[in-house]
Amino acid sequence: MKKIIQSILVLLVFTFIACQPDTDTDPQPKTVQKKEGYAEKPKNIILMVGDGMGLPQITAGMYMNKNKLNLERMAYIGLSKTHAADNLVTDSAAGATAFACGIKTYNGAIGVDVQKKPVKTILELAEDNGMKTGLVAACVIQHATPASFAAHVDSRHKYEEITESMLNTPVDIMIGGGQKHFDERVDKRNLLDSLRKSGYQVIDSTQKWQNMDFTSEKVAVFTASVQPKPFSQGRKYLKKAANRSIEFLNKENEKGFFLMIEGSQIDWGGHANNIDYVVSEMKEFDDIVGEVIDFVEKDKETLLIITADHETGGLAINPKSMMNQKIEPGWTTDYHTATMVPVFALGPGAKDFKGIYENTAIFDKMKKLYGF
Ligand code: MG
Ligand code: ZN
Repeated sequence: MKKIIQSILVLLVFTFIACQPDTDTDPQPKTVQKKEGYAEKPKNIILMVGDGMGLPQITAGMYMNKNKLNLERMAYIGLSKTHAADNLVTDSAAGATAFACGIKTYNGAIGVDVQKKPVKTILELAEDNGMKTGLVAACVIQHATPASFAAHVDSRHKYEEITESMLNTPVDIMIGGGQKHFDERVDKRNLLDSLRKSGYQVIDSTQKWQNMDFTSEKVAVFTASVQPKPFSQGRKYLKKAANRSIEFLNKENEKGFFLMIEGSQIDWGGHANNIDYVVSEMKEFDDIVGEVIDFVEKDKETLLIITADHETGGLAINPKSMMNQKIEPGWTTDYHTATMVPVFALGPGAKDFKGIYENTAIFDKMKKLYGF
């Protein structure tokens, strides 16, 4: 009898332990991905870039968000060395070209090497392999980060040339600002018509696109004529854009997709040395991270990589900072810094992103995991 009671007690204790829910303070990293049923190799890759999102920006967002971020749900973490070919401090063009093409290049280069020769991007390789592709940004779609995946131009400042170059890459869905570089050009051409001729549904910046049906094989959504506003001033589209792009790319798609989503303006908060700007952009980005993780955890065939091109502002979180109330910032520059930035990964192949490596290795790892 005593033995039976003992066994029941042991069983009860085990059941109790096993049924404990994951709490916010759970120190266990989610590194048991196989048990969670992820595929061996990714069919899809989503690369999320927080422009200028170094550790201080992430930390500031976290402490101003009740000490919690969705980024904490990412299973594997690494560090990336961000330097450019010609400068220890990279800009966003060389930084994005490193992810897109796997090369170190000069600051300002959009998808070209140090000799200014075009280099095929991961997005173009995905297209070549019959996959679908997408670019989503909180800035003009010709801006350095998105452009480096779909254009080859020797300078980030040549917006009109970048726009033309992007027309040669059949990105399946593009969402961002920058309509005027298509239809209010110095050369007077209307490249929105060129988009339509090559099969795009074009939704211009005056249309309320968020609940519109996507009716073509390819979609270009312009969210602004020029630059979209900061999040705090009413730009709310990025989350919807991310969700709708994933839905669009994943629908009836056997071959898989590549999608880049950029939180573009974390960087601009850094350039402005404006901590409130950094924090609001960071929180918006992390909110979207949460939704993308929900998709990845359900889908099981999508690898999610989240990283930054560089840190911006040389931000320090100084004494007098208070949880949820204020960050007392210290800035060392209104430009970028050369500090390493974190790389977070979740899903099939995520463990490859542990460790310390060059930013160009992110391209190499993606290429290898796709099997190109
Ligand atoms: Mg950018
Ligand atoms: Zn910048």
